[in-house]
Amino acid sequence: MKLRVNPIACEGHGICAELLPELITLDEWGYPIIDDVDVPRTLEPHARRAVADCPTLALALERSRAESGRAASRAARGR
Ligand code: SF4
Repeated sequence: MKLRVNPIACEGHGICAELLPELITLDEWGYPIIDDVDVPRTLEPHARRAVADCPTLALALERSRAESGRAASRAARGR
C-alpha cells in the first residue's frame, strides 16, 4: 500500500504529518511530502488513521503496483 495525496483537495492542515511522521513531512507552506515507499505493515494502522482523519479527504491509501499484480494473479487463478 502507498499513500497518495490529492494536491487539489489538500488544504495543508498537517494532521497527516502529525499522525504519521515516519512517512509524511511538511514543506515550508505546510503541505505534505509523502515518502514514495510502500507503507510498512507496522505503520498501516497509523496510515489508515491519517487517511480517515484528513479533513478534506485528500489522503488515500492505494495498492502498489506489485500488490495489484499479485491480486490480479490470484483472481485469475480463482483464489
Ligand atoms: S491532513 Fe489532509 S488536508 Fe491536511 S495536510 Fe494532510 S493531506 Fe493535506
